[in-house]
Amino acid sequence: MRAPVNNFKCALYPLGDVTQWYGENPALYAPLGMAGHNGIDIVRPWGEHMFACADATVAMTKVADDGYGQEIRLLEDCGGGLYREWTYGHMSFIAVKAGQKLLEGQYVGNIGNTGFVVSGSTPYWKTNPYKGTHVHFQVRNLKQSDKGWDYYGLPLKVEALNYDNGYKGAVDPVPLLGGRADLFPRSLGLGMSGEDVSRLQVQLVIRGFLETTDFGYFGPKTWMAVRRFQSAYLLPVTGYFGSMSRAKLAELMKPK
Ligand SMILES: [Zn+2]
Repeated sequence: MRAPVNNFKCALYPLGDVTQWYGENPALYAPLGMAGHNGIDIVRPWGEHMFACADATVAMTKVADDGYGQEIRLLEDCGGGLYREWTYGHMSFIAVKAGQKLLEGQYVGNIGNTGFVVSGSTPYWKTNPYKGTHVHFQVRNLKQSDKGWDYYGLPLKVEALNYDNGYKGAVDPVPLLGGRADLFPRSLGLGMSGEDVSRLQVQLVIRGFLETTDFGYFGPKTWMAVRRFQSAYLLPVTGYFGSMSRAKLAELMKPK
């Protein structure tokens, strides 16, 4: 299988594309009867093309003002009466029709911000004219069952495996996309630069320790921000982002 967008990087923005992991923000999803976010949110510019993540049949297309807005669901036949249902939410344009057979990599539509979109506090969205633009990407394992539901135009009934897992059967798509990138592969200090410095700075901004939109170089402001972070979490206050600080921040960034 492949990611729904080209050149997908499974890490937090700006190094990657993901702004919300599976399982995050339990309080936000509790009213919907879920234990947390039931997919991953991938941020890309509005209108960017998306692609079928597997050979699949279009099981459903839907246009609504709420929920996932314009969404498609693709059904991948895994054999033995087992299926995977892939959902793409918040689209700005749907290029496929229910019942249509797709090959992996085939164009399915465009990224948008339709439906109920939570505008996060990520720096990306501050400069994006299409506030909250992302694809909500979700997967459920299904099995053929007479007790299940049927999709429009498809001659089979299915039900979700593990429907009561707290996510209405949705599972984490990240392992299927090749796993999550190592967030902080090295220690960071004054004078260093790189994508991992940007990732650190984004986290410091989100958590209120740093104010900048200028990412990529570890200067005196970042040094001060790391000291504030270390002080807040009772770590040795050095301004150097070493093993203890890396472990602490990676822990804070894990889905809860
Ligand atoms: Zn989402």
